[in-house]
Amino acid sequence: MSAVPQSVPFDPLRQRADFPLLARQVNGNPLIYFDNANTAQKPRVVIEAVDAFYREHNANVARAVHTLGAEATSAYEAVRDKLARFVNAPSRDEIVLTSGTTQAINTVAYSFALPRLKSGDEILVTTMEHHANIVPWQLVCERTGATLKAAPITPQGELMVERFIQMLTPKVKLAGVVHVSNVLGTVNPVRDLAKACRARGIPLLVDGSQAAPHLPIDVQALGCDFYALTGHKLFGPTGTGMLWARKEHLAAMPPFFGGGEMIREVRIDKTTFADPPHRFEAGTPNIAGFVGLGAALDYVESIGRERIAAYEHELLGYATAALKSVPGLRLIGTAQHKAAVLSFLIDGAHAHDLATLLDNEGIAVRSGHHCAHPLMQFYGVPATLRASLAFYNTRAEVDAFVAAIARVRKLLG
Ligand code: PLP
Repeated sequence: MSAVPQSVPFDPLRQRADFPLLARQVNGNPLIYFDNANTAQKPRVVIEAVDAFYREHNANVARAVHTLGAEATSAYEAVRDKLARFVNAPSRDEIVLTSGTTQAINTVAYSFALPRLKSGDEILVTTMEHHANIVPWQLVCERTGATLKAAPITPQGELMVERFIQMLTPKVKLAGVVHVSNVLGTVNPVRDLAKACRARGIPLLVDGSQAAPHLPIDVQALGCDFYALTGHKLFGPTGTGMLWARKEHLAAMPPFFGGGEMIREVRIDKTTFADPPHRFEAGTPNIAGFVGLGAALDYVESIGRERIAAYEHELLGYATAALKSVPGLRLIGTAQHKAAVLSFLIDGAHAHDLATLLDNEGIAVRSGHHCAHPLMQFYGVPATLRASLAFYNTRAEVDAFVAAIARVRKLLG
């Protein structure tokens, strides 16, 4: 698939037609899917790639010399190349295929952080992290006596960059930051943070789960040390993802998971391990899922990530203005630089009740803490309602959403 030139106007209706599920009805209404930050829908090319793999090529990877084994291995390894291009990694050997962001961050926690941390050390994250970029660090802190700290944010939902930098003391052995917040939509200034970390010799991990579907990603330009993403938010299958890490880090990291595929030689008294990235890929992976992820990456590239970002920026502006016109609605997350995520509260209405009533109208939004308890604590709320958009969403859907909010509010009194 070749990329559509930037000059060709983006047509969300044309893209929608590529997603079979978006044509369905929910509770007697056309589906409006605004839960993309949770998981994105899959284009036909992804569904067909998974289907074709099982119909025509299914075999295990890196084990069999037969034709199917070779086909499966080359299809699987081709996705490593695609991911390397997708994030502009210097080498395909720096791409570890994981089940998602959660496994990617845990790999860094157990293979990189755990062997290095000692009592008195610190790991620095931010108040706007997903639990996936909090809990693994807490677990390794408990085992080492290190401490997890979080840099503060402003009420608008922007990271206090100066405070983050001040907190990068010599005690800090690793920093972690979300590229795009799954609750606030805030796009963090990763380049600046990476520069500050590098100047102090502190490795920086970036959680790119919510950035990858919305923004072009260039790990070399960002200057970070680790970048994690998950395939299912990127229009690919669940159970797929990636950890990119600088070669020198991977080379120095012991394996965290043991088993088949990650060894050079196993003796009962001692095992030697494969080189990275295979050292971190024990066991049989989600082969068909990765083949589907490869198709998703091709699909996204064929639209063009700059075009996606430009369209979503425009749609976000439209949706923000529309929601601001709703009386009693309070937006949570009004950073200057945002991706297409809108969290909000409405006076007198519980987020879960609203989400249930909206579902009756065929509108899928998420209510809850969004796996970001510390952020909810910061705002002093138990939950928000979140509408998260993708390039296949339209202004007409935003209008229908706002009209539905007005109707369901009346029902709630
Ligand atoms: N980080 C962020 C910012 C997320 O939004 C999510 C998913 O909601 C994750 C991490 C975890 O991703 P996964 O469950 O696919 O590993």
